[in-house]
Amino acid sequence: MAKAVVVGSGPNGLAAAVTLAAEGLDVTVLEASDVPGGGTRTIEATLPGLLHDECSGFHPLALDTVFARRFDLTAHGVEWAWPEVQYAHPLDAGRGGAVLRSVAETADGLGPDGASYARIFGPLTRHFDAIAEEFLQPMTHVPRHPLALGRFGLQAVAPATWVARCFRTEEARALWGGVAAHAFRPLGSPMSSAIGTALGAAAHRFGWPVAVGGSASIAAAMIELLHIYGGKVETGVTVTDAAELADYDIRMLDTSPGAAADLLRGVQRPRVARAYRRFRHGPGVFQLAFAVEGGIPWSYEPASRAGTVHVAGSLAETVEAERAIERGRMPERPFVLLGQQYLADPSRSQGQIHPIDCYAHVPRGYEGDVSESIITQIERFAPGFRERIVGRSVRSPRQIAADNRNFGGGDILTGANTPRQLVFRPRATLHPYDAGAPGTYLCSAATPPGAGAHGMAGYWAARRAMTGLRH
Ligand SMILES: Cc1cc2nc3c(=O)[nH]c(=O)nc-3n(C[C@H](O)[C@H](O)[C@H](O)COP(=O)(O)OP(=O)(O)OC[C@H]3O[C@@H](n4cnc5c(N)ncnc54)[C@H](O)[C@@H]3O)c2cc1C
Repeated sequence: MAKAVVVGSGPNGLAAAVTLAAEGLDVTVLEASDVPGGGTRTIEATLPGLLHDECSGFHPLALDTVFARRFDLTAHGVEWAWPEVQYAHPLDAGRGGAVLRSVAETADGLGPDGASYARIFGPLTRHFDAIAEEFLQPMTHVPRHPLALGRFGLQAVAPATWVARCFRTEEARALWGGVAAHAFRPLGSPMSSAIGTALGAAAHRFGWPVAVGGSASIAAAMIELLHIYGGKVETGVTVTDAAELADYDIRMLDTSPGAAADLLRGVQRPRVARAYRRFRHGPGVFQLAFAVEGGIPWSYEPASRAGTVHVAGSLAETVEAERAIERGRMPERPFVLLGQQYLADPSRSQGQIHPIDCYAHVPRGYEGDVSESIITQIERFAPGFRERIVGRSVRSPRQIAADNRNFGGGDILTGANTPRQLVFRPRATLHPYDAGAPGTYLCSAATPPGAGAHGMAGYWAARRAMTGLRH
């Protein structure tokens, strides 16, 4: 029986492990941390019994993928739950915009911009299954749905500020800017619409669900499946040298490209090693988790029903904040992404004390304390928030990277969403998973289709590894 080792137990490492084990390989996963799961861990960050997602909280792209159809995680303990409002964007004076599951209802709430919103997101939502099938795999393939992909591509290649011109009201413009900012790119740069277009349409097709009990249930389900197929996970093992992996026929690396180049020094083709070291990382985040008594008193009511709230003010403010962090400057009013997972999954709360997870976009490796700026931003749209805080915990970019070396400098996407890296990641090649050493594959979010806890990079990397093994 061929033997495979997977370095790292993030969702991609585990998806690779399950895929290989299902093919009959003897699979071992080696994880540096004492707790498996990488970006899908759940912790009691603030008060006992309060469940916080340490990293990923919302899973719009995980529900219906080739991996999810082949390996049904819901049969192994994952239960999805949806908030009433998928995401909201409060503005001053109690105004704001909100996205519901229905395109029509969302458009109704956007007044004069409703028709433009429906014109953009209606067709994208209707064709989303075909579109997602195309972008949840390497871009270097012959598309099965060229028309749907073309429709998506027309908007995706545009700077987000250009798409914003389709809207006249500040509510709709800010709402679009908030979802576009998930790209961690200056919103005036080419292809800065790509991530927002995908996540915006996914909000209507699948919603932005949370996993009941916390995202750790996703890792737990994959580990249960892995055990069923005879594989195992060993925690507390940091792999630093390819020699430690010499006994295996296949080596899957759920690591950053730079870490892979370090690990493979001496055995990796120099051209690939150089490309891995040139791989660009994105800005960072500064995280705050809160325990909040009675929830957040948002002035804009729909935000009180929203799983995700983009706390950033106007489109102009989001544009300025994202431009600043790219230039290494900490904005006074950062873009803050806030998760209220407990609204969809009340089991995470303790009575009237609710867990809130949020982070501010900051320059890569930023060393300052952003707690006060985050609280001030939230307080701006929810007066009285500060008095309701009964517990909090902080993770700086340095701490985030210490907890998971894939998030160096606080880059939670494991790679910048530059135009080049949106198309070719981690390097320009037709075989993005090949790591330039025999039987060795990169399978992390640094490979297509990029960040997210959907496991698709791991799945495709494992498929590529199986092809290599057969040859
Ligand atoms: C704060 C935050 C919020 C996020 N929100 C969302 C969200 O809402 N939705 C979403 O889809 N995604 C979200 N993400 C992104 C998502 O978590 C990642 O894209 C995803 O986890 C990437 O999976 P991965 O398997 O590639 O790597 P990771 O999840 O980063 O896992 C890599 C694992 O490999 C281990 N490892 C690395 N090097 C070694 C080594 N040498 N030896 C042994 N083990 C090693 C690490 O310890 C880690 O456990 C968020 C991330 C963060 C941090």
